[in-house]
Amino acid sequence: MTSTVRVRFAPSPTGFLHIGGLRTALYNYLFARSHKDGKFILRIEDTDLKRTVEGADQDILDSLTWCGFKIDESPYHSGEYGPYRQSERKDLYKKYADQLIESGHAYYAFDTEEELTEMRERLEKSGNPSPKYDSITRQSMKNSLTLPKDEVEKKLSEGTPYVVRLKVPRRETVRIEDKIRGIVSFETKGLDDQVLLKSDGMPTYHLANVVDDHLMEISHVIRGEEWLSSTPKHILLYQYFGWEPPIMAHLPLIMSPSGGKLSKRKAEEEGIPINTKEYIKQHYEPEALVNFLAYLGWSPGDDSEIHSLDELCRIFSLDRVSKGGAVFNHKKLMWYNEHYMREKPDRELAERVKEIAFSNGVSGIDDDYLQQVIPLMKERVSKVDEFATLGRFFFEDPQEYDEKTLKKWKDDSPELVKAYREKIEDWDEEDFKADKLKAALQEVIDEKGVGFGKLMMPLRIATTGLSFGPDLFPAMELLGKETVLRRLDRAVEKL
Ligand code: GLU
Repeated sequence: MTSTVRVRFAPSPTGFLHIGGLRTALYNYLFARSHKDGKFILRIEDTDLKRTVEGADQDILDSLTWCGFKIDESPYHSGEYGPYRQSERKDLYKKYADQLIESGHAYYAFDTEEELTEMRERLEKSGNPSPKYDSITRQSMKNSLTLPKDEVEKKLSEGTPYVVRLKVPRRETVRIEDKIRGIVSFETKGLDDQVLLKSDGMPTYHLANVVDDHLMEISHVIRGEEWLSSTPKHILLYQYFGWEPPIMAHLPLIMSPSGGKLSKRKAEEEGIPINTKEYIKQHYEPEALVNFLAYLGWSPGDDSEIHSLDELCRIFSLDRVSKGGAVFNHKKLMWYNEHYMREKPDRELAERVKEIAFSNGVSGIDDDYLQQVIPLMKERVSKVDEFATLGRFFFEDPQEYDEKTLKKWKDDSPELVKAYREKIEDWDEEDFKADKLKAALQEVIDEKGVGFGKLMMPLRIATTGLSFGPDLFPAMELLGKETVLRRLDRAVEKL
């Protein structure tokens, strides 16, 4: 094994890249980059063709690229260890399955689906809640350990369908030293004789994963805790092949705020986007998601919270990854998002807002005008799309007012708004300034002897269509006299 760090992110393209997968990719990436000459490899584990989803593989690449990861080797980046898509390595795995049969660590099994079902039902009836094909049951099944040698050969030459199974020893303890969890031991007693090669000649995840990690000289396997239970099988495989296993590190689960693993269903219930693609579509800042995910199971050991991807690459270490589940705090993510969004130049934000507004059906926005909108809204929004939604009034007259807003429009609102309009209607355009507009409000409320909110709220509703938003007077100044007067009139008339 080489002494350089080589890690891989090895997703199965059975769906779009979810947030847990992205965190695994991130930790692998950070680990690779925290070592001199460390390599980050993307390997597509598509051996289960039935479950492969079209477009998933491109989605994975797009998501990693969006986060700013630079991939050293992958199906799309050249490398010496390819191909990097397991379906393109199919022919290679059989040789290794054969090698295990030869050495007595694997065997052919010819059982049909019906025979397997029958075995399971029989065992269930006799009180075994989780029947397995294991060191006991294999003795009464149709395989190369129970059938006479000539019959096995006959079946093979006739092309009878078969699978290759791992011969898991009856009683053995398999130990690993996990970088995060410490020593973990497993009893082989609870394991089944894992299928390594399926009847269509495709390897299962276990065989392909171990063979490829070895051939690609992977130094560290960093993956989610859900794979820990597969690890003893992998360790047996390394042992039987006579290979040194990579160093293992199993990352803590990502938990839902209401408890339990953050499943797709739970995420939906809590309004948490689950796929990276949704974060992209919903205009999150990639730097925010990266920074947030880095802290979901790791911390640098001080109270710093803001780190760019480059900084994270420098300070990340597996020693500081926690064992316990990490709770997904969406508010914290929004906090990161606000931070990174506010750091971006107004010009860049303006360009993005323009595109978003356009896709929301608002076109013809003047660039100079938009540049002035950005600073007014920047401290008020959490995501860039909110410039276009909460700030839609900057680009068009409010079309309708929602019920909650209407409740804040009171009986005396029309009269107060009219009085305000009269105060400002004869002003010259150059007098139409925030401080003067504010002073006019003060004058009206003094004259009418009412509280500040009595006029402020209806003015806001009339001008913006909303009961909350950025500072009203600078917004009015930017909108200009003509627009403001028109909106005040419309509100009085409509509401
Ligand atoms: N293909 C597995 C997955 O979908 C890889 C697990 C591993 O990293 O070994 O996550």
